[in-house]
Amino acid sequence: MKQYYEIKAQNPDCILFFRMGDFFELFEQDAEIASKILGLTLTSRNNGASGNTPLCGFPHHASERYFPKMVAAGYKVAVCEQVEDPKLAKGIVKRAIVEVISAGTSMNEGNLEAKVANYLCAVLPGKNSIAFSFADVTTGYFAVSESPVQNFESELARRMPKEILVPSEMELPKTIAEFARSENILVTPVETSHYELENAKAVIENHFKVSSLESLGLDDAPEKTRVAGAILWYLIDQKKSELSHITHLELLDLGDYMVLDPATLRNLELVRPLNADDPQSTLMYVLDYTVTAMGGRHLREWISHPLISVKRIDERSEAIAELVANPIFLDELKNSLREILDMERLLGRVGSGRANARDLYGMGRSLAKASKVAEALSNLKSPLFHHLSEVLLSAEGRGDEILKMLNDDLPMTVREGGMIREGADPELDRMNAEIKDRRDWIASLEARERERLGINSLKVSYNRVFGYYIEVSKIHSDKIPPEYIRKQTTVNAERYITPEMKECETIISSAETRIHDAEYRIFCRLRESVNAERTELQQIAEAVAEADTFYSLAVAARKRNYTRAEVFEGTGIEIRGGFHPVIVAANPDLSFVPNDVSLSPEAHRMMLITGPNMAGKSTYLRQTGLIVLMAQIGSFVPAEYAKIGVVDRIFTRVGASDRLSRGLSTFMVEMIETANILRNATDKSLVLLDEIGRGTSTFDGLSIAWAIFETLHDNAKRAAITLFATHYHEMTTLADSLEHAGNYQIAVREDGDKLIFLHKIIAGACDSSYGIHVAEMAGLPTEVVRRARKILLRLEKSHIDPSDAKQMEKIKAQPQMDIFAPPDEDTQLLLEEIRRLKPEEMTPLQALQTLTDLKAHY
Ligand code: ADP
Repeated sequence: MKQYYEIKAQNPDCILFFRMGDFFELFEQDAEIASKILGLTLTSRNNGASGNTPLCGFPHHASERYFPKMVAAGYKVAVCEQVEDPKLAKGIVKRAIVEVISAGTSMNEGNLEAKVANYLCAVLPGKNSIAFSFADVTTGYFAVSESPVQNFESELARRMPKEILVPSEMELPKTIAEFARSENILVTPVETSHYELENAKAVIENHFKVSSLESLGLDDAPEKTRVAGAILWYLIDQKKSELSHITHLELLDLGDYMVLDPATLRNLELVRPLNADDPQSTLMYVLDYTVTAMGGRHLREWISHPLISVKRIDERSEAIAELVANPIFLDELKNSLREILDMERLLGRVGSGRANARDLYGMGRSLAKASKVAEALSNLKSPLFHHLSEVLLSAEGRGDEILKMLNDDLPMTVREGGMIREGADPELDRMNAEIKDRRDWIASLEARERERLGINSLKVSYNRVFGYYIEVSKIHSDKIPPEYIRKQTTVNAERYITPEMKECETIISSAETRIHDAEYRIFCRLRESVNAERTELQQIAEAVAEADTFYSLAVAARKRNYTRAEVFEGTGIEIRGGFHPVIVAANPDLSFVPNDVSLSPEAHRMMLITGPNMAGKSTYLRQTGLIVLMAQIGSFVPAEYAKIGVVDRIFTRVGASDRLSRGLSTFMVEMIETANILRNATDKSLVLLDEIGRGTSTFDGLSIAWAIFETLHDNAKRAAITLFATHYHEMTTLADSLEHAGNYQIAVREDGDKLIFLHKIIAGACDSSYGIHVAEMAGLPTEVVRRARKILLRLEKSHIDPSDAKQMEKIKAQPQMDIFAPPDEDTQLLLEEIRRLKPEEMTPLQALQTLTDLKAHY
């Protein structure tokens, strides 16, 4: 326990898993916490003077299951192993922490999703900006940057790290702390000294084996250096290994990408669904035909980082177009991608010293397949494919050595032999040949003895306790020859050994120890040779991921009938026959009505869209956002035709927000997000506003919506392309009066007392609010609908403001209203109801029922 307390004291913020023989044990408070989370039985052990110590544990081989569970529950796991051979130890076995696992540094399968990167983030908040770094220890990705806090927030939301490091003497900026809390991101304070420039420099220079930071582009970048140094220190400290697969440091420039703030990322459901139960509602889901896990992660990065350079967008869409036009190449590409494993994560396992023979073999096979991808691509003309195929060609032959050396069928362990192929290493073959006779002798012993003794059920088996033994059932005890030495009695049988067997076994087992050692040495050499090529192998892996991403986007384009968008430097959106990629994909039987958009600075730059609830306003807004975004990824788009002026940023204020759970009212959230738009929109932005002002009283809401619309129209700097959906009909007069704005509506047709949604966007303002209609269709009881119609009529007549609580109280409070109501009101309603009746479609019984009904009510 003294040893335990010493180690525990060094890792106070971790749950300590303490190796004792074949078990991991937990004590005291750790045991209490872990027993609940892992479902382990809590026991106690008498611990002398300190009384009973709570205790729980599990066999060490179950750690693959239990560690990830603990990490997923938000804890850090410190793994303490026995670091010397207990047989050789004097006194208590030496123990040490061999790894600390936290959400952002876990390499356990149980904590990872194949198609999602596992980011760790570190920040260093400054006066006007924030320096930050992202790393994914599973693949070796490492990047650093510095930007205004707001842009960092956007990057944070796109990458969704599992853990954020912050200097222990500083606080996270408020918005980021709030984001971390709401997304359950672990925040880990790191001692400030690791952020000090000198220390950070030393860690980085030492890791990358460079003598100055210049070669990494970090000269004159003290903040970036400090934050990169801190994250690297943390990773190495936790993994207790070199992490040689972190081969380079990317200097991220957020200016290369469209800015997508957290609200927009969420609302447009790019990679994460608004509702966790509905994973099919994301754009990622619709576009993801990737064959490999690496491709999946790559596509995810592309979707959350749309480009703003027309040149780069064109290069991508040209490549996709070529694939779309060549379905045969597409199939070929798919076949060669099919058997490629997650090379990036395999390299991560190699670089952190945890790869086994299966991992290496997987690498070998994948490399062989990667050169097939190169062949498939070499037939294509696009410059991007040229580049990829060049990189991939370098995979040729690289896997040969691995496949030559390793068996096809491999064990999980690396120290028990069975890895190296016969014929691969002459020395090993010689060692195996030396004991071949003995192995054969043992192998044939069973048959020989069966025949000699006439016992057909005689068996030769092996166990760890006494090695090889002969098992004979008790009924044959009389046939046992004198040289058999009895070792053990079981229920029905006796187990024997013979001196000859023992001698043979001793020779085999000592030779096998040497063979296993030799195999392990050969394996380590092979692993080292893979590690030595890590930089090239990472490039190959990335090229595979990119080829797969192109494959995926091309297949999506073909399957879903997308077209290539024309993207230009300038302002304006022209879409014909646009549709919503996710709704259409999720409802193949829905006859979705395609819609157009036509906006430019010369004509209308702003659309004011009216129409009843359920007409399709939000859908139209979102689909426009998604089409623009897809175009800037380089993807084909869901439309017949699209010409898109590159936008620097998409702002959205649509739908309900999950920020409600953070204790902010709907209206407050709406206003925070709108304020953000008004501060940051530019004449190159796209702004999507849905039902602004809904969260407050009518007049408040209307005035705010009005002012926002005017500002976006009049302020030249904020002259963004804007789609503005509203239920305030009063605003249509505003849109009419403004030069660059136009009224649009989503058409509906009235058919008797039914509303038919045509879902078609047309010019002009929609003239009445169909709220009560929609409520009726939704099945609100007839009584309530009638009552609502009556109130509406009165409000319209008397111009009562529904937000005026006092007046409304009066109206609502009077059941007598019927009595005091002017007679013409009832008559009018009755007449309306009669007008809506269709006697020709009624059965006599229905007619009678309706009459009874009307009589009862009026
Ligand atoms: P609003 O924002 O006007 O209340 P929504 O955009 O939420 O309306 O759309 C309401 C319903 O109409 C949704 O279920 C949607 O699937 C459907 N819808 C919207 N646009 C179309 C369309 N163009 N074609 C067919 N159905 C549509």
